[in-house]
Amino acid sequence: MNKFWLCMKSSVFIWEDDKSILFYNSDNYERILQERHVSIKAIVDNLIDPSNFYSVLFSDADMMDTVFEKFINSILELEFGYICQFDENREKPIIVPPHYIFPRSFNKRKNNGLDYSDLNIINNLHSVVIQITGRCSLSCLHCKYFHKQMNHCSKSENELSLEAIQTIIHKIKLTNIRKIDIIGGNIFEHSYFYPIMEMFGNLPQTKIYHSNFKFVNAQTARFLLKDDSNALLKIVAEPLEIWLEELYLLIEELQEFERHLIWVFVLTSEVTLKNFELLVNKYKISHYEYHVLYNGENMNFLNDRRFLNEGEIWQLKLGIKNIFANQILNRNYFGKLTILADGQIYEDENTAPVGTISDNLENILYSLMSNDRAWFHTRLHNGTCSNCIYKFLCPPPSRLEKLLQREMICIHP
Ligand code: SF4
Ligand code: SF4
Repeated sequence: MNKFWLCMKSSVFIWEDDKSILFYNSDNYERILQERHVSIKAIVDNLIDPSNFYSVLFSDADMMDTVFEKFINSILELEFGYICQFDENREKPIIVPPHYIFPRSFNKRKNNGLDYSDLNIINNLHSVVIQITGRCSLSCLHCKYFHKQMNHCSKSENELSLEAIQTIIHKIKLTNIRKIDIIGGNIFEHSYFYPIMEMFGNLPQTKIYHSNFKFVNAQTARFLLKDDSNALLKIVAEPLEIWLEELYLLIEELQEFERHLIWVFVLTSEVTLKNFELLVNKYKISHYEYHVLYNGENMNFLNDRRFLNEGEIWQLKLGIKNIFANQILNRNYFGKLTILADGQIYEDENTAPVGTISDNLENILYSLMSNDRAWFHTRLHNGTCSNCIYKFLCPPPSRLEKLLQREMICIHP
């Protein structure tokens, strides 16, 4: 009887649930969904056992079983691993399975041993959204929905004072924040708009000014962007069902600023999707982002265009870093905070604030790093997802799911 080593590549993840085993290769994005079967139980159990270092023995007698043979052939054909002849004079092959080594600070967090004198905690904050004012002369129907799903303006009577913004900017200078989103209401309606813009303009970080397209023209764009190579202007083009003519004119008017503009398209219906494609193709817009959002009445559209069906889940392609990230933190939230115009600070506007601008920033960050709120909310924390074989492949829990009080991004049967 001939014996062989089956050796898995260290880019291959093995996940299992009650019925199936999923092999996923983070190098070539191939996958094998294998029904649990008695013929392969032993070899799969041995592969999963970390003490075997991803290499296990089988024999040509095992290959007489068709299920076993098919399994080995799939592993080889899709380049998940390789086989080599067993030789008792040679050592066992050693392959390190994909396993994330937690940085010290994460281990401390897990053990509830965060050190309150560790000033590096502040380095975990990467970007901040500052709503300088909630004042706005428009009355968009969707105003109360969109800011709960993405960085988006929202209307209120609140406004951050000049002193409050000075304090925030002072704190930002002590951090590693690389990106600041400045958002309204209508940012141009702030009572001290000009001095505030000057303060932001002096910061070396990337500044992204957000505005509804209705408030933007060549003059306002020139003022915001000035000569600042670190400034970008995000123009929210909505609602896309109407205003198309106005958008044509604005796109043409702003052509000279193209490199510093990001067009934001909010898709809420098939009409908005069609108009978005029309605009992007007609004007060859290259810097843009689009978001499929809930507007209070478009669940059918979300079912078609946002929630994932089985085929779409099957097509998800994630590299090893993103899978490790999905195992320990939430990439949608981690390292980000939002300061609203009433001075409250949020990691997610769908949940309670985590502090106010008067609080000590380090204390807020210690609290975020020591609990499983949004920054560390993974699919492992969602009941249905936690038992699902795709939990580390699916996108992390999002603000939309929180708003809809839904645990899954898939169209679950
Ligand atoms: S422009 Fe923004 S803040 Fe103003 S009403 Fe519309 S959604 Fe609300
Ligand atoms: S959203 Fe959750 S339940 Fe749905 S496929 Fe992804 S992990 Fe599974």
